[in-house]
Amino acid sequence: MSAAAVYRGRFAPSPTGPLHAGSLVAALASWLDARAHGGHWLVRIEDVDLPRCVAGADQHILQQLAQLGLLPDEAPLWQSSRNSAYQDALTRLQAANAVYPCACSRKEIEQACARAGLPKARNGELIYPGTCRTGLHGRSARAWRLRTAGAAPVHWSDRALGAQQQDVGQEVGDFVLLRADGYFAYQLAVVVDDAAQGISQVVRGADLCDNTARQILLQQALGLATPGYLHTPLVLGANGEKLSKQNGAAALDCSSPARALEELRRAARRLGLQCQDSDDNIGFALAAWVAQWPSLFAHT
Ligand code: GLU
Repeated sequence: MSAAAVYRGRFAPSPTGPLHAGSLVAALASWLDARAHGGHWLVRIEDVDLPRCVAGADQHILQQLAQLGLLPDEAPLWQSSRNSAYQDALTRLQAANAVYPCACSRKEIEQACARAGLPKARNGELIYPGTCRTGLHGRSARAWRLRTAGAAPVHWSDRALGAQQQDVGQEVGDFVLLRADGYFAYQLAVVVDDAAQGISQVVRGADLCDNTARQILLQQALGLATPGYLHTPLVLGANGEKLSKQNGAAALDCSSPARALEELRRAARRLGLQCQDSDDNIGFALAAWVAQWPSLFAHT
């Protein structure tokens, strides 16, 4: 079976605001990778974390993508319509005793970490010390966590970043699949949806690289295939951190085809692609970058 015949990629924005220069790099890279493989490119609106979503941002993003010439090959999928699939996955993990309920508040986790001498935070997240692994001891469940203790370190190869390794049990701890506020966690939603949509390559921003080992463990626990991964360079804001709405990322200017082309060129340069003045419309520019793409990132 040729890779080209089965390639399915996706861009999975969270509708917390319009696309900006940083999110466009991931969108363009995933589109180019799908086109370079003769594959399908899907858009998934990741509105699973409803409290963080902004009304109308989903439609705004879809409109921006259309103005940029990045058109999905299938109807977009909204994660807010997928709760029963996430619940089914959690039920399977419960039946296999791969998950357990957790009663700990953030404060209790902080205190337990301090008592156990665990490093306070990893990427701003606490390493869960395993308090509820052996039972709730009369407390009420708030969340559900995946058991990671004893899992072998996860090794995987990123097409841009090379060999990667993470010992999830040591470096992250048992992580949340169903949150205390009743929402399913990103980690569960993304794994269930990538599998349901038959995604063969995940192309996304490097800020998400650290989630990959968790997602691979979860795929294994659910008996799902692991896709390939390519994490794209980030665009930094004025404060040196990843560009985001919080540090002043402006919405893309797609008010005319010429402006949209300029936005695409900026993203293409960040990916290391060459831009020719002669490619003076979106269609020509995208076609030229599809042709260049295989020389930049190893084909699968
Ligand atoms: N929804 C995530 C974000 O916008 C991306 C998830 C993914 O590509 O795996 O940061």
